[in-house]
Amino acid sequence: MSAKKIVLTFPKDKIDKPIVYKLIKEFDLSFNILKASITPDQEGHMVLELDGDKAEIDKAIKHLKDEGVNVEFLSKEIKVNWDKCTQCGACVSICPTEALYIKDRQTMEVAFDPEKCIACELCIRPCPPRAIEVHF
Ligand code: SF4
Ligand code: SF4
Repeated sequence: MSAKKIVLTFPKDKIDKPIVYKLIKEFDLSFNILKASITPDQEGHMVLELDGDKAEIDKAIKHLKDEGVNVEFLSKEIKVNWDKCTQCGACVSICPTEALYIKDRQTMEVAFDPEKCIACELCIRPCPPRAIEVHF
């Protein structure tokens, strides 16, 4: 079994097609939609985490490309250096996927869920002590 995070860009003539659902039916994959922004008559963007047999994931990615969908791999990983973090909370409102979140409303403790992170890097600059790092 293997897992891959990918960013899909759909041309506007493809956004109403059930392309992604074929990934379950034809390639026996499961997926998590980590982020989606699709507006009628415009380009659509989706971040998916695919789980399944590696060979089937490769076939599914080829299928997406053949359908005219642009596929990019998320090869970056975001890590929080908790030794540097001051728990200021500045990153929480910026994070679009709630990967950075308030774990405890009493103490306002900040936590990070790497499963939800799409490596957009929006949190990097606003972090005063530079506690959020990008690893390649
Ligand atoms: S890179 Fe930062 S802002 Fe972007 S999803 Fe990951 S934790 Fe959130
Ligand atoms: S912005 Fe930086 S210092 Fe503040 S809570 Fe987030 S990771 Fe910690």
